[in-house]
Amino acid sequence: MLPQSLAEAEALDRDDPLRRFRDRFALPEGLIYLDGNSLGPLPRATPDRIAEVATREWGERLIRSWNEAGWWEAPVRIGDKIARLIGADDGEVVATDSTSVNLYKLVVAAAALKPGAILIENDNFPTDGYVVQQAARLTGRECRMVSGDALEAAIDDSVSVVVATQVNYRTAARLDIAALEDGAARVGARIVWDLSHSIGAVPLDLPRDGATLAVGCGYKYLNGGPGAPAWLYVARDLQDRLTSPIAGWWGHADPFGFASDYRAAGGIRRFLAGTQPMLSLLALESGVDLFLEAEMAEVWAKSVRLFDLFAARIEATCPELTILSPRDPAKRGSHIALGHPQAYGIVQALIDRGVIGDYRAPDIARFGLTPLTLGHADVWRACETLSTVMREQSWADPRYASRNSVT
Ligand SMILES: *Cc1c(COP(=O)(O)O)cnc(C)c1O
Repeated sequence: MLPQSLAEAEALDRDDPLRRFRDRFALPEGLIYLDGNSLGPLPRATPDRIAEVATREWGERLIRSWNEAGWWEAPVRIGDKIARLIGADDGEVVATDSTSVNLYKLVVAAAALKPGAILIENDNFPTDGYVVQQAARLTGRECRMVSGDALEAAIDDSVSVVVATQVNYRTAARLDIAALEDGAARVGARIVWDLSHSIGAVPLDLPRDGATLAVGCGYKYLNGGPGAPAWLYVARDLQDRLTSPIAGWWGHADPFGFASDYRAAGGIRRFLAGTQPMLSLLALESGVDLFLEAEMAEVWAKSVRLFDLFAARIEATCPELTILSPRDPAKRGSHIALGHPQAYGIVQALIDRGVIGDYRAPDIARFGLTPLTLGHADVWRACETLSTVMREQSWADPRYASRNSVT
């Protein structure tokens, strides 16, 4: 049963097994943060960790920390931790570079396995399209763009690599990994999954679903900090058959042999390129460590409840807003998208009232439902504020007529 009042929402929060996580984050009092799907909030442990890395590991131990403090191994160590969130094994994930760069590496590497076109959804997050267009140009392949709904049917013999984002960044619509992998396996194509809006949001088991290649973000649901390194996954059987197009010394079989010719390391390390940003990488580890304390099944179950409550309150109090996200939990991620022509002004008016969501062009107000930090009462209050903004038409404030550079 969904709560029917703020008091009932608060009662549900008191029994919430994830409630203890709220205080592990440094969120300002009184703020309702519904943007953890875009920039995850700060884990309380992270500033101390960054200070330790800077003052002791870097400041005092200096270059010795590459060995002593586990810096050199950090990308693979953190990759092993991220692997647990996608059902993968140790040695199948590495934390490194950005999502865009990792996508490029895997698309080009996978294209070498089979001739044919590179296929991508045209409603994907734009960077994925840019990366794929460029990868296609440089490898002499055709780039085909189709809508997410048409993707499955478009995977035929002439396709080499498919790039698919499991959870759509705008609507939260979720693709069926196992079904698409079945189709790809039939024609010998490889799918590179972008799990930026999936990891830490929905339960994942890539080996079970037949997925062999994936990338994803560290700064969204994993709370790794602004610009945190991303990660990439390559199923073990495939690793030594793929060559990264960005050959660098961190991916060399013998990096301290300083040989003049490149020889790729065995295993996941071959997808590293150059020196990793330790301050950011170790901040990401702090976020991932915190996340691993939670039970993913509980996180997802709560996400479903928060979504249902959000959707019910919108239907009850804001009929002029259209719920664009799928209502079936199996078909969506962990945010809710609301359509309205004045979405930009609506989001700005909410931010001015202490409810932070974000705007995605042309007409979407987007709200991340992050179960580690949000309660049912937060959702209730956010929807109350939203209904006030709609009733008072606060979105029409002339201050919202011009847009910020980051929306
Ligand atoms: C957030 C996001 C990215 C971000 O890529 P960066 O290289 O980290 O800027 C890429 N793809 C998708 C689907 C995303 O949601």
